[in-house]
Amino acid sequence: MNKKILNFQTEVKQLLKLMINSLYSNKEIFLRELISNASDAIDKLRFKSFKNNKLLESDSNFKIEIFYNKIQKTITISDNGIGMTEKEITLNLGTIAKSGTKEFFSKLSNNQKKNANLIGQFGVGFYSGFIVADLITVNSRKAGKPKEKGISWQSKGTGEFSIENINKLNRGTEVILHLKKNEEEFLSSWKLKLIIKKYSDHISIPILMYKEIWDKSKKKFFITNKKEIINNTQALWTRNKSEIKIEEYNEFYKNITNDNKNPLTYIHNKIEGNNEYIQLLYIPSKAQLDIWDRKKKGGLKLYSQRVFILDNVKQLLPPYLRFIKGIIDSANLPLNISREILQDSKNIRIIKENSTKKVLNMLENLIKSDKKLKTKKYKIFWKNFGNILKEGLGEDIVNRKQIINLLRFNSTYFNKKEKLTSLKKYKKRMLNNQDNIYYITAENYKTAINSPHLEIFKKKNIEVLILIDRIDEWILSFLTEYKNKKLISIAKGNLNLGNLETDEEKKQKKEKEKKFLKFIKKIKLILKDKVQDVRTTSRLINSPACLISDENDISNNLIRILKSSGQNPKKNKQILEINPKHLLIKYIKKEKEFFNEWINILYNQAILSEGGNLTNPSNFINNLNKIFAIIIKKNKNF
Ligand code: ADP
Ligand code: MG
Repeated sequence: MNKKILNFQTEVKQLLKLMINSLYSNKEIFLRELISNASDAIDKLRFKSFKNNKLLESDSNFKIEIFYNKIQKTITISDNGIGMTEKEITLNLGTIAKSGTKEFFSKLSNNQKKNANLIGQFGVGFYSGFIVADLITVNSRKAGKPKEKGISWQSKGTGEFSIENINKLNRGTEVILHLKKNEEEFLSSWKLKLIIKKYSDHISIPILMYKEIWDKSKKKFFITNKKEIINNTQALWTRNKSEIKIEEYNEFYKNITNDNKNPLTYIHNKIEGNNEYIQLLYIPSKAQLDIWDRKKKGGLKLYSQRVFILDNVKQLLPPYLRFIKGIIDSANLPLNISREILQDSKNIRIIKENSTKKVLNMLENLIKSDKKLKTKKYKIFWKNFGNILKEGLGEDIVNRKQIINLLRFNSTYFNKKEKLTSLKKYKKRMLNNQDNIYYITAENYKTAINSPHLEIFKKKNIEVLILIDRIDEWILSFLTEYKNKKLISIAKGNLNLGNLETDEEKKQKKEKEKKFLKFIKKIKLILKDKVQDVRTTSRLINSPACLISDENDISNNLIRILKSSGQNPKKNKQILEINPKHLLIKYIKKEKEFFNEWINILYNQAILSEGGNLTNPSNFINNLNKIFAIIIKKNKNF
C-alpha cells in the first residue's frame, strides 16, 4: 500500500482545535489517556486469547513501556496489546465513535473551564496527545497478523492524517509524540514517573521505564539498560480498605470514568462465601450526557480474579441504578464468559441483588453523613439522579419501601422556596386531624405554587407536596400510600379534607349547595359540551372557579406531558367548581344581560390558572373586552 492522506471527520477537527486551547492548563493528562488506551488494548487481547491462544504469539508478558528521547524530543508509549488493522486505525483515530457527540458539541461554549469539564466527562482520549505534540506517529500491528501487516499513522493534528504500510515485529501499538517547542519539561524520567504515579498507579499492567542512575562526577542522570516498574500493579480494589487513601479512590474513579470531578461517595466491600467477589461502587457527582437513555450501557466493569472481562455491564445492577460506576471482581466466573451467558448466571444474579441493596444503603448513609457533617451531597445526588432513582418504584418491588424513603419532593411547607422534603418529614408535620398526604402535580414549581387548588390548604395550613417532574405522574401509580396514609391529589375528585373539616363548615357547605342549585343548572346549560359537571366547592378562597379532574381520570398535567411526547390521550371532560363566597360569583348569579360572557370568562380563567391552553383565546378576550366596555361606559368621568 502506498501512503494515503485522509481527512479527519469534521467533529474531530473541531475537537482538536478546542482541546488544545481548553485543556492546556491540565496538559499532563495526555499520558494518562495514552496509558489507559494501552491498558485497554492489552485487556482486549487477554480476553480474546482465552478463546484463541495463538494470538499471544508466545508472548504473554503483557507490558506498557514509556521511553523518551531528549535529542529527537519524543515520548513513546508502547504496548503489546491487541493492535489495530488499517481499517481500525482509520476509524479509531480519524473519527469519534462515541454516542452523544452531537450533544457534546451543542453544549460547548466560550467558557474554557466549562469546556474542559465537558471534555473530561466525554473522554479526552487519544486526541489529547496533540496538546503537547505537533506531530504524532502511531505504529501498530494487530495481534495474529504477520509482521508485514503493520500500519503507520501520522498526523500534525490539523485537518488530515496519513497511513502507510510498515513492517512491525512486535504486535501492539506504539504512540510516538513529537513534542512542541515549549514542552521539553516532559523529557525527564522524574517528571514522567510523577505523572504516571499520579494518574495511572492502579493500572494492573506493569508500566516500565529505563532505570536512571545519578552520575556524581558528571552531575547528570545516566540511563541504564535495565527497566523498572513504575506503577503499583496491585489492583486498587484488591488492597485493604484501611490502606487506601480517599485520594486514591477518587483518582481510580476518574480513571475508570473519564469524569474529572470527584465522586460523591463510594463503597468498597469484599463479600466472602460461596460466591466470592469484591465490589467497588461509586456515585458520580454529575450525570453523563446520555443518562436518560434507559437502553444506555451499564456503568460497571466486570473482572474475574483481577482479569478484566467486560465493560459497561448491564446485568450487575438494575436500570434505575445505571448512574452507578465502578467494578465488580468475581472469584467464581469463568474467564471466557460472554454477555449472553451473564444473563443466566446465578452468581451474577446474586451479585446484582446484593449490589442493589448496597447502593440503596449507600444512599441512606449519604443522607446520614450529610446531617452529621453538615454537607449537602444528597441534594446534589437528587438533582442529578433523583428522577432516575424514581424509576425503581415501578421496577424494583422488593426494594420499593427503601426507595420511597429516598424520595424527595418540593412542598408548600417551605413557603415559596424550592426546598425538598422526605415523606417521613411530611408525615411528622401532619396536622392532628389530617388523614391524608396531599399533593399537586404541575408543569413547574411556579404554576403549582400559584394554583387555585391550593387555596384552602394554604388557609388551613395543610402542607401539600409539589410534584413537578414528568416522571412523577408515573410514579404515583406505585406510590399510593405511605405508612397507612393515602396520597391524594388536590386537583382530583371532591375536596377531601377528611377530619380537617369542621361540622360547622360541612353544614355551611350543604346550605350553599341548595342556594346555588338553580344557578348551577344555568351554567351547566352553557358549558354542557365543555365540562362533565358544575358544582360549588369550599376549596377556593381567592379564586372564583377552578377545574377538577374526576377521581379516576388522568390529570391535566399528565395529558400535557403525553401530548408533548407526541401521543394523543383521550381527555375526559372536567368538573367546574365555583366558589360561592366569591364576589364575582355572587355578582354573576344575579347578572342577566351578559351571563353567557361571564360564564365563558369564568371557565377560561379556570383553565389558565392551572397552566392550561385556551382552545379559543380570542373568544375569551372578546368576552373580557365586552365586560370592560360596560364598566367603562358606566364610569361617568370617561
Ligand atoms: P476511547 O479510549 O475512549 O475509546 P480514545 O480516543 O482514547 O477513545 O481511543 C479511540 C480508540 O482508538 C480506542 O477505542 C481504541 O479502539 C483505539 N486505540 C487507541 N489507542 C490504542 C492502542 N494503544 N491500541 C489499540 N487500540 C487503540
Ligand atoms: Mg481512551
